[in-house]
Amino acid sequence: MKAPDFDYVRVRSLDEALAALAAHGEGARILAGGQSLVPALNLRLLAPEILVDIGGIADLSGIALADGTIRIGAMTRHADLERSPEIARHVPLLARAVREIGHPAIRNRGTIGGSLAHADPASELPACVLALEARIVARGPSGERTIAASDFFRGLYETALGPDEILVRIEIPAAAAGERFAFHELARRHGDYAMAGIAALARDTGAATLRIAYFGIGSRPMLAAGAAAALRDHGASEAGAAAAVRALGADLEPQSDLQASAALRMHLAGVLLRRALKDLFPDAAGGRE
Ligand code: FAD
Repeated sequence: MKAPDFDYVRVRSLDEALAALAAHGEGARILAGGQSLVPALNLRLLAPEILVDIGGIADLSGIALADGTIRIGAMTRHADLERSPEIARHVPLLARAVREIGHPAIRNRGTIGGSLAHADPASELPACVLALEARIVARGPSGERTIAASDFFRGLYETALGPDEILVRIEIPAAAAGERFAFHELARRHGDYAMAGIAALARDTGAATLRIAYFGIGSRPMLAAGAAAALRDHGASEAGAAAAVRALGADLEPQSDLQASAALRMHLAGVLLRRALKDLFPDAAGGRE
């Protein structure tokens, strides 16, 4: 299918982009890498009046470390994250996860800002930013505001961004000594969206700081706070792991679709948790499947 007619403007600055959004209201759409937006247009799921292409705003791309925080511009491509020594060193969870996004052609165009703003519940990066306690910075007509990742994802393809706001960067605490992560996904074929996936992070060697996020399970990426609390209370022993898997029942709201039933997704969430525990706490018994 072909996209419906739309106007197009390539802007050179954030102010120009904000002015275009203000002029067209809900009729405008930001165009970043186009890897989700263009298919949605071609399928006629969306019919914006105008696309505001932010690919020419140089300030929106790049990766920088300052004061223990990694700052990633919204237009930074998945392939740049994949190849970045700073990301490999300071946010290894992101370096691992980004390799699973589609195929190289998609990663060469798709951007981190686009992935978070699109908020596909099966996407890898939204769950990673939840596990990493990232801050998402948006700019609107009245300036910048910072949104905790845990407040950003509201529902299916729904975020805290207003129609007049642009996601400008993502701020992530750089990995501390002793930090460990786990990342696993289950997809029918490499490059497909996941049927279920997990991104987990422990900022120290114990379970005290453990954050467990799931993707591909429900209508948005979800933190499994009950499972993390069970592991804090019982450690990553067999008893702790069993309690954590039980806690997933209250943490997650799995959904059925053509790929998997809700019951299968809940089962896979437990399998993924055991795999993550094996990576995070290799000497503990809780990672045995
Ligand atoms: P676009 O498509 O340009 O935009 C997506 C949405 O976000 C639009 O609504 C747009 O208006 C909005 N937006 C973009 N940037 C901003 C911004 N800075 N501020 C505010 N709003 C913004 N993704 C995965 O996560 N995992 C996969 O396995 C995967 N597989 C794929 C397979 C195929 C065949 C294809 C075509 C895509 C796949 N994708 C996958 C999607 C890909 O990762 C996209 O790059 C990503 O979802 C969106 O990023 P984008 O830069 O292309 O955004």
